Amino acid sequence: MSENKHFETQAIRTQSDNSLQREHASPIYMTSSFVFEDAEHARAMFADEIEGNIYTRFSNPNSNEFIEKLSRLEGTDDGVATASGMSAMFSGMAALLQSGDHILASRSLFGSTHQILTQIFPTWGIEHTYADVDKTEEWESLIRPNTRMIFVETPSNPGLDLIDLEWLGRLAKKHDLILNVDNCFATPYLQRPVEYGAHLVCHSATKFIDGQGRTIGGAILGDQELIDKIRFFVRHTGPALSPFNAWMLSKSLETLPVRMEKHCDNALRIAEYLEGHEELSAVKYPFLKSHPNYELAKRQMTHGGGLITFEVKGGIERGRKFLDNLRMLSLTANLGDTRTIATHPASTTHSKLSEEERCSVGITPGLVRISVGLENVNDILEDIENALRASKPVAKVVVGS
Ligand SMILES: *Cc1c(COP(=O)(O)O)cnc(C)c1O
Repeated sequence: MSENKHFETQAIRTQSDNSLQREHASPIYMTSSFVFEDAEHARAMFADEIEGNIYTRFSNPNSNEFIEKLSRLEGTDDGVATASGMSAMFSGMAALLQSGDHILASRSLFGSTHQILTQIFPTWGIEHTYADVDKTEEWESLIRPNTRMIFVETPSNPGLDLIDLEWLGRLAKKHDLILNVDNCFATPYLQRPVEYGAHLVCHSATKFIDGQGRTIGGAILGDQELIDKIRFFVRHTGPALSPFNAWMLSKSLETLPVRMEKHCDNALRIAEYLEGHEELSAVKYPFLKSHPNYELAKRQMTHGGGLITFEVKGGIERGRKFLDNLRMLSLTANLGDTRTIATHPASTTHSKLSEEERCSVGITPGLVRISVGLENVNDILEDIENALRASKPVAKVVVGS
């Protein structure tokens, strides 16, 4: 299909060649390997003289379709599908860095990405420095002669901090660094980092890309030269995406635009309602005027996304009571699902960080993260409202006098 069709059309009409049985939906190629025509064909395939699928750890029609589609949506040259979001984050860094190299990263990162940088890479001689998202004037001075990559997450999980990608693209270019962006919260429907100069974009496809809480998956997309190195790394280290999961994720991308519209509409309405709520404080959503990066959000993102954070007044105990009194919202660690989810980051997704580390990225003990789903917005609001009321400390009744 022509590459100049609109986003929604690309998401639906990018398809691998299924001409054999004339299926309308792509079939699932549940096979470990692909047959060679003869010995010479086998040799030529392994020598990269002929393109094609050899073995599902290297490539498979389902993961190829998923990647071709996501790559078009992100506006990148090419990409690699991986078994999880973390294997995408890890492979994108490990394939391109070596002992002695340094990464400059934003401090607000997903918990496991933080563990890779602070616990795993140092034992391999790969160093990192964290830069604060609200102190952009400091970033340039943190670049060292051995810095190779800038890694950021925008909006960040769970702090919803934003980073100016245009500024970062210029900084990366000036110092000849690879700019790698975790675009999980925005998806290409809201934000396309390569338009601002990013060289790599990585995803947890588990979240909004699947969007239905069914599978773990990931992808890394970007400039051809970098993707070729990452493909080599993934092919030989093995975090390949299963054909079934790739089929599901490619199918999910067909509805990404309509789902994101609804996630964002619901989230904005809920954020606006909660912002004035007397039982809550620090309500944060990129498209609320009170967000510290509101102007940037409006410039860089087409919508505000599906995530909201807030604090329930009355501290951690009240916060826990609030979560325990939710009747419809799910208490689970995932996000980007059709179902609205409430999470307490400090005791779950970011529990491996120290209290000090958590506070430095805005994860206060009472912070609640809501991933707004696709239910009717009034039902979501009603559940939140009822749980807030039920968690209210009972006023002491004074008997007599
Ligand atoms: C969930 C998540 C990841 C990790 O993805 P998995 O699919 O769970 O491995 C990475 N980055 C962000 C921002 C995430 O939300």
